[in-house]
Amino acid sequence: MIVLGIETSCDETGVGIVRRSPDGHLELLADEVASSVEEHARFGGVVPEIASRAHLQAMVPTMRRALDTAKMSLSDVDAIAVTAGPGLAGALMVGVAAAKAYASAAGKPLYGVNHLAGHVAADTLDHGPLPSSCLALLVSGGHSQLLLVDDLVSKITEIGSTIDDAAGEAYDKVARLLDLPYPGGPPIDKLARTGNPKAIDFPRGLTGPRDARHGFSFSGLKTSVARWVEKRERAGEPVPVADVAASFQEAVADVLTMKAVRAAKELGVGTLVISGGVAANSRLGELARERCAAAGIELRVPRPRLCTDNGAMIAALGAHVVAAGADPSPLTLSADPSLPLVYGS
Ligand code: ATP
Ligand code: MG
Ligand code: FE
Repeated sequence: MIVLGIETSCDETGVGIVRRSPDGHLELLADEVASSVEEHARFGGVVPEIASRAHLQAMVPTMRRALDTAKMSLSDVDAIAVTAGPGLAGALMVGVAAAKAYASAAGKPLYGVNHLAGHVAADTLDHGPLPSSCLALLVSGGHSQLLLVDDLVSKITEIGSTIDDAAGEAYDKVARLLDLPYPGGPPIDKLARTGNPKAIDFPRGLTGPRDARHGFSFSGLKTSVARWVEKRERAGEPVPVADVAASFQEAVADVLTMKAVRAAKELGVGTLVISGGVAANSRLGELARERCAAAGIELRVPRPRLCTDNGAMIAALGAHVVAAGADPSPLTLSADPSLPLVYGS
């Protein structure tokens, strides 16, 4: 079975094509992404109107490139999946409208799926089907959540989420503070390698004994970094940016891995999947490997390219949805910025 996936929830226009074999394994046939990130860089964040217009321009060429790479035409595809939410309303609308047009023109079933479940599904492209129950740490530009995934299509339960900023958002804000380019994850990750992660003891949000056990908070950490930098600047002292980056990164990785491993143990699940853009972070991966190994938990992290937004993860989730025998979405499908995690609910 061949499924094509379309992603336009934020600033990446993605079209991916996957083949699912009867044993549930997925083969990646195409993964084309066009990003408008450079157009947003000077604003320090995604500008919704710019993103929508860029999707309009990139949709057809990206679709063509994906079909060319897979050496097929739309008639060879068995189903079309599209991100219906969550995300920016105008951006989502472009992908949903395109998917509806392609589906009705080619006479293919259409499946409107959840972007966050798609981030988790990305891992099945690299590591095969998920075990019957696993914990997912979803860390991206807009979300930081712990999800108990009993079934990618029909049973995902939110265990905890951030009460303020998302992890990726904290990276982007701290990068701005340090005069690093947007998005902030990659430059902080790189700079942190040359700094001392123990130089500054930044706060670990919501890790106290009485704090929300599975919740996250990153806004206090960002403020603490800002205060620390301001103090240095006021005193006319140079800011050791690499040490700040490394210490900030250490605080984020420490909290995320500590809470994820604790939740996995409490819930009695043996597998942790980390996905979303921040899952591409080198220190997060390293610390997660150490702590999961010590706790006897299997760790799965997709390759960095599949951690950030792409169409392949939507095609992957679409393939699982089709295989589960779920009904296609009606052609009246519309974008829903607060779409539930579970398909069709
Ligand atoms: P959401 O999935 O919540 O809708 P999004 O789609 O914008 O948000 P992603 O594309 O999954 O988010 O991830 C983008 C985020 O990942 C950005 O905040 C970026 O800074 C962060 N990021 C990317 N690479 C790294 C890295 N190596 N280290 C840390 N953060 C990273
Ligand atoms: Mg992006
Ligand atoms: Fe995303």
